Amino acid sequence: MQPDAGIPLPQPDPNAPQRLHLLGLQPDELQAWLADRGQPAYRARQILHWLYEQRVARFEQMTNLSRDLRAELQHTCRIAALEIEAERTSDDGTRKLLLRGRDRALVETVWIPSGQRNTVCISSQVGCPVGCRFCASGTDGLERNLGAGEIVEQALHVRDLIRREQGPDARLTNVVMMGMGEPLANYRNLIAALRILNAEWGLHIGARRITVSTVGLPKQIRALAGEALQFNLALSLHAVRDDLRTELIPWGRGVRIAELLDACQHYFRTTGREITLEYVLLAGVNMTSQDAEGLATIARNLRANVNLLRYNPVSGLPYERPGSNASFAFQKQLRARGVNAHIRTSRGRDVAAACGQLRRATRQAGA
Ligand code: SAH
Ligand code: SF4
Repeated sequence: MQPDAGIPLPQPDPNAPQRLHLLGLQPDELQAWLADRGQPAYRARQILHWLYEQRVARFEQMTNLSRDLRAELQHTCRIAALEIEAERTSDDGTRKLLLRGRDRALVETVWIPSGQRNTVCISSQVGCPVGCRFCASGTDGLERNLGAGEIVEQALHVRDLIRREQGPDARLTNVVMMGMGEPLANYRNLIAALRILNAEWGLHIGARRITVSTVGLPKQIRALAGEALQFNLALSLHAVRDDLRTELIPWGRGVRIAELLDACQHYFRTTGREITLEYVLLAGVNMTSQDAEGLATIARNLRANVNLLRYNPVSGLPYERPGSNASFAFQKQLRARGVNAHIRTSRGRDVAAACGQLRRATRQAGA
């Protein structure tokens, strides 16, 4: 599918009242909304069932609610805020959805099928405020945060696809917050959405199958540890020296690596969940033996696994993807020091599946 360059789309009406996105609500919030309208608490359960089990597209389909309540919902709430704008399939089966928000914002979501697993890679923001020098999402800064409902909706779109293609009982099994944006910079909406993805009445995905990837905000990492949920934490480290890390991630200037590792240590101690260190391999930049040695020391102290991501080149940015020999050699140095290190297969390269790349290409094409 091609983006509709040139065809004017209706602009959102700035005077339209803001509707409440039901997919972002917890049961108690929905109950409070219903109580204000004189409705009993059990209506919340009925509505959640329609939203997550039945996945109806319109309020009028919620047939066990009164006509009046359906009309009220219709006028003040919404079930969906993201439309599928484009869908691309990669040779390896990875499926990328480009979704469009009501304000025309572009959001990327990726479905990665793999054996028994179906993983969704979700975006947390439109654009990203961090602006890592090598990343497509960071090039134009932050457009806006995604609401909790919009974060949940991405997973539902992918679950719909999975059920359509693999049958009605097929499951969405894993979630990685590795799409566009910095999840911990949109903390409240992130937590609200993760609770819904995790809840039995929601998408019922185990916390241990949900991974939050972050460039590293120490305060929020500590807060996440305090949520008493067992999410996996992945820290995007990318450099073992503060000067190189600051060059790659200027936004992180005020945060020393030692401080980040302390926050991760705290996360590990509090939750018992192992940390993953992500390390993007940039040819000629962060791949010396000293880098491998430094990374191995950090990983061992933290008892962390290492994911090596071979860089996906982004047009206009000066970084290069390393060859596979250099990448394996780096991995070998880590393994020789007793570190569990994997080179993450970069799936869906032909559909621009790396973070922010499809949105960037679409915007450059003038959509
Ligand atoms: N903002 C969060 C999550 C989204 S990015 C974070 O930075 O962790 C998910 C991962 O993809 C990060 O480790 C990021 O550094 C990496 N990444 C971004 N652009 C990439 C590219 N072009 N090639 C390979 N990895 C990339
Ligand atoms: Fe933002 Fe992550 Fe991209 Fe950095 S790598 S710009 S934090 S999305």
